[in-house]
Amino acid sequence: MPILRQIAQLGQPVLREVAGQIADPENPAVQRLIADMLVTVADANGVGIAAPQVYEPLSLFIVASRPNPRYPHAPQMDPVAMINPEILWVSDEKEKGWEGCLSIPGLRGLVPRHKRIAVRYLNSAGELREEEYSDFLARVFQHEFDHVQGMVFIDRVESTLELMTEKEYSRSVHSHA
Ligand code: ZN
Repeated sequence: MPILRQIAQLGQPVLREVAGQIADPENPAVQRLIADMLVTVADANGVGIAAPQVYEPLSLFIVASRPNPRYPHAPQMDPVAMINPEILWVSDEKEKGWEGCLSIPGLRGLVPRHKRIAVRYLNSAGELREEEYSDFLARVFQHEFDHVQGMVFIDRVESTLELMTEKEYSRSVHSHA
């Protein structure tokens, strides 16, 4: 049975490490980690989670976009585990959007991201996949990709004036909805 993993909070050194590549995606420990991350991200109302966030410095993350209380307008998709992810191409065009992070509770920041990206990764069966993402999914991928590089979203916020508490963020989202 998968178990809920504890989520590392900002200040934990594991969040600042460059994660190591996974040699064998079919290794049972990797498969268990993926299963645990799937239940952990769902439980926390996340739209993605990276292995370093559960104290495993490995190049692996889950993208699991779906509408939830933290991201009411997120697109619905089946969760995908992405192993040893790479960014192959990015659009020149960037877009700013509000992000939060399970490792930085209570805070949102306006983060510039490439609007479109082309990526490559191994899925949980160890098969090579190439995909293009735009808008919200491109944003989630870039956010999680940062985690496996030891970065977090506040590193990319251009001004502290573009930070907001979660509470103020929810208030402004609801007033604009
Ligand atoms: Zn995060």
